[in-house]
Amino acid sequence: MGIQLRPDIMRFWQSFMKRLPRIFVFFISLSFLFSVWACIPSAKKFDLVIQNGFVIDGTGNPWFKADIAIQGSRIARIGSIDDKQAKKIIDAQGLIVIPGFIDVHTHCDRGIVRIPTVDNYIYQGVTAVIGGNCGGHPFPLKELFSKIEDQGIALNFGCLVGHNTIRREVMGMKMEAPSEEEMESMKSLIHQEMEAGALGFSTGLSYLPGTYSEKEELVELASVITDFGGVYATHLRDQGLHITEAIEEAIEIGETNNIPVQISHIKLADDAVWYELERITGPVENARKRGVEVTLDQYPYTATSSGFGSSFPSWAFEGGNKNFLKRLENEENYAKIKSYIIKRRLTSTKGINKPETIYIANAEKFPEYVGKNLQEILLSQGKKPTIENTADLIIEIQKNGGASGVFFQMNEKDVEDLMRLPYTMHASDGAVQAKGDGVPHPRNYGTFPRVISHYVRKQGVISLEEAIRKMTSFPAQTFRLKERGMVQEGFYADITIFDKDKFEDRATFSAPHQYCQGLHYVIVNGELVVEKGEYTGILPGMILYRMD
Ligand SMILES: [Zn+2]
Repeated sequence: MGIQLRPDIMRFWQSFMKRLPRIFVFFISLSFLFSVWACIPSAKKFDLVIQNGFVIDGTGNPWFKADIAIQGSRIARIGSIDDKQAKKIIDAQGLIVIPGFIDVHTHCDRGIVRIPTVDNYIYQGVTAVIGGNCGGHPFPLKELFSKIEDQGIALNFGCLVGHNTIRREVMGMKMEAPSEEEMESMKSLIHQEMEAGALGFSTGLSYLPGTYSEKEELVELASVITDFGGVYATHLRDQGLHITEAIEEAIEIGETNNIPVQISHIKLADDAVWYELERITGPVENARKRGVEVTLDQYPYTATSSGFGSSFPSWAFEGGNKNFLKRLENEENYAKIKSYIIKRRLTSTKGINKPETIYIANAEKFPEYVGKNLQEILLSQGKKPTIENTADLIIEIQKNGGASGVFFQMNEKDVEDLMRLPYTMHASDGAVQAKGDGVPHPRNYGTFPRVISHYVRKQGVISLEEAIRKMTSFPAQTFRLKERGMVQEGFYADITIFDKDKFEDRATFSAPHQYCQGLHYVIVNGELVVEKGEYTGILPGMILYRMD
């Protein structure tokens, strides 16, 4: 006899059997959700989330409010991001969040191995620097790059091939055109340095031995970098009365070789040409109209800084230092050199080149001169601060190893007008500094915060967003630094966070070794290098190799 179920139980059983697949799916899903939930505590998606900041993305667009999530070395997401997804959170409430500053004009190649923490740049919010400017770089580059990679570095570093370095390597201090053989050797060394990952080719045409070279030599040497997609960056032959011709020379070098031209530390550095901006904008804008990519970089100060050697006629150094010393012993040569210095360095139409406005930044043999102007030095020696005596002093210093000086040569209005040009970016022209060493130009410590505090906030010369663009995406675009210079998903997480009202340079001409204020965080390749205003001591920087 079979089992007879009650009709209501029978109905329940039938409906259960019908729903079984759906019930099955329900339980499977429940167990899946449970397992996902169970995993969440150990699967926070992002290494670092920056919340509540005002993001200025580097494009020049106005700020917007967003959180930024970082995963590894990259920006993973921009938007509204849940706390629970973050391993670490930075609350940037009320702060400005930008791509880290990129400084395309530095001489950091000189000190970066000795001071890999590069504190004077890190404390400005700089996350990338380019060295090898003005014609000088450490040769061979491959060696420098591997040293840096071995020991680590706080920020990202790229380098140019310097013409002076290459010329000295092949031709010494010869004041003549290269032979065919010398030309080939120079080209092959430039090729070698570009292969090593250099970003371009730089010249320093008022320095030695670059000043001995003619345009034809430079056109031919620069042709090497065309196929590499390199940039031609130049310290012009002249930044005063002949600046237009010097810019035209640079443009011809770029235009002939179909390469971008970057004019370094642009300025009207002679009061005879003050207020004559068209000497610069004329040739640059004409070239841009023709399709030549010409751009400028500028530091935000009215004083320059360089070695006193550039105050001398270039022939004085032909054949090297021994010959220079010998020439000074000859009365006629001495007089010629002295009158050149007076004309170049100690005479000016509006009287800016005076013994009291020329300061010694560094002088190995004369530590007692450092921080003093030439007038003070002469008076301390019981001499009158005449032009004649000042020229003799400059020669005496150069005879004994030389010195670097600070020269007040520019005009504030020109600095501001050059800053307003959309094709001018900002860069320091500084180098790695050992804190407290000498009295260097304050640009080494203050360039980037100064653009924002002085020129954006106090003078209103450009907007904050425009200033950020000129110090982030624009330099990255010009030097072909891929996936940097903008706050964008997928880009490297190089990020700087500062207080809009307090970010300010503190370095002055008399007391330059001072970090800025108002800097909160600096992130390099996703790692916190500055946290709550203090350097964390890590070295997450990379070499910025030229990429195809
Ligand atoms: Zn220079």
